[in-house]
Amino acid sequence: MSLPIHPMYINGAWRPAGEGGLADDVNPATGEVFARIAQASAADVEDAIASAHAAFGPWQKLLAAEREALLLRTADVIAAQADRIRDLIIEENGSVFMKAPWEVGYAIECLRVAAGCVRQPHGDTFPASAPGQVGMTIRQPLGVIGGIAPFNSPFLLAMKKVAFALAAGNTFVLKPSELTPLSGLKIAEVFHAAGLPPGVLNVIPGPAAVVGDRLLADPRVKMITFTGSSKVGRHLAAEAGRHMKRVTLEMGGKNPLVVLKDADIDYAVDAAAFGIFFHQGQVCMASSRIIVEAPIFDAFLEKFVAKARTITVGDPRDPKTVVGPLIRPSQCGFIAGQIADAVAKGATVCCGGTHTGPFFTPTVLAGVTAQMSIYGEESFGPVTSVLKADDYEHALFLSNDTRAGLSSAVVTNDLQKAMDFALRSESGMVHINDTTISDEPHIAFGGVKDSGFGREGGMASIHEMTEVKWITFQLGKRAFPF
Ligand code: NAD
Repeated sequence: MSLPIHPMYINGAWRPAGEGGLADDVNPATGEVFARIAQASAADVEDAIASAHAAFGPWQKLLAAEREALLLRTADVIAAQADRIRDLIIEENGSVFMKAPWEVGYAIECLRVAAGCVRQPHGDTFPASAPGQVGMTIRQPLGVIGGIAPFNSPFLLAMKKVAFALAAGNTFVLKPSELTPLSGLKIAEVFHAAGLPPGVLNVIPGPAAVVGDRLLADPRVKMITFTGSSKVGRHLAAEAGRHMKRVTLEMGGKNPLVVLKDADIDYAVDAAAFGIFFHQGQVCMASSRIIVEAPIFDAFLEKFVAKARTITVGDPRDPKTVVGPLIRPSQCGFIAGQIADAVAKGATVCCGGTHTGPFFTPTVLAGVTAQMSIYGEESFGPVTSVLKADDYEHALFLSNDTRAGLSSAVVTNDLQKAMDFALRSESGMVHINDTTISDEPHIAFGGVKDSGFGREGGMASIHEMTEVKWITFQLGKRAFPF
């Protein structure tokens, strides 16, 4: 059977790869190739940047009402085909059934929030520093923005970049993950159907280095917005520095969920299980370290392991499945290696620890120490370590004892400690009496330390994606000193 071939989207048109390159799109649950995707060559990247550059002038001048209407129409286009997009995300990403509709709904909301931001970029006015002077700041769009997106929530995370960039008056070149190119191309399709002018958005799947290096090096591209691993983000930050390019980095996490001794243990177990097993742990905010105060450690671990054993693993299309396939076959080997290292150094596998093909069994480790790679290194799978803390200060120390700093959570009814934790936790987002996984399109989302810098969502995105300009207006003549 011949496979469908999907072209790329440049200047409002669908076209094959300039040099004919194609790559396979693989269903991670079955390992089957279900589509072939046009791969951008250097010339295609040049065309995408040139068309975004040419479209910038008219797009930034468009009335706010027209940009708003376009974003809202795009949300409606998605809503009308929500089930089809859900099924695509399941097929291409291995997303479980319960996550895919959430992702589609988030994208719709994101567009609506972005529409609400179109009229919001405000400036300031300043008291005069010279007689007759009026001082003000305005916010202007940057121009062409390059977006590099990860695989794990491919429709949502790329949409979050595109929607706010366009709302602020920028144009865009998107490089989706090589693992989920169709979810990225779907974004072009829905904007196209809503009537987006040519060139405002270009989507070019292709080899990371070919596309990424050109986006970074081209002076017409004013900013790179990246979501992905800390390893790739660090490389991009260095390159962005070389080219004096603005960059925001949403990167990996090793997120602590802290359970204090007064917590409701059953509730904490539920929060921890959702935090690590949702989307098979392939979430930047996953609760990959669970830190429990000593007096309730044994009771928590027993109940948590019992719950982990009940988690359903398998076909992502089945609504009862909680843990589906990992997207990269190599990830199972990587995690198995982390577990072997931990066991060799004295850790205990309380449950799981094995995989069948791409399906990794929910895994809980105890006795993990800082000498083991899994203590600090992101696993990006359904595996977590439960660490014992002597007291509150030790729990806080352990939670901050990581190079990452994306999200953290504390479960307690002690108000003083909850707020103290929120203030002293070294992470961009802190959730009290909740899990570490939380994301809303109007909230400033982002991390500190190796989890990156810059914020995404609502007006935080608009601020990252606009330039502040100070303008003075001299009424009458100013007296100069000479
Ligand atoms: P990845 O870093 O492997 O890839 C991300 C993107 O970068 C892909 O599009 C990839 O093709 C591209 N890329 C890779 N090498 C490149 C290069 N040299 N130049 C330019 N682009 C390059 O990440 P992934 O495996 O797709 O996603 C998982 C990672 O993303 C995890 O670490 C996860 O924590 C992180 N993540 C972070 C957030 C957040 O908001 N902080 C959200 C989702 C995922």
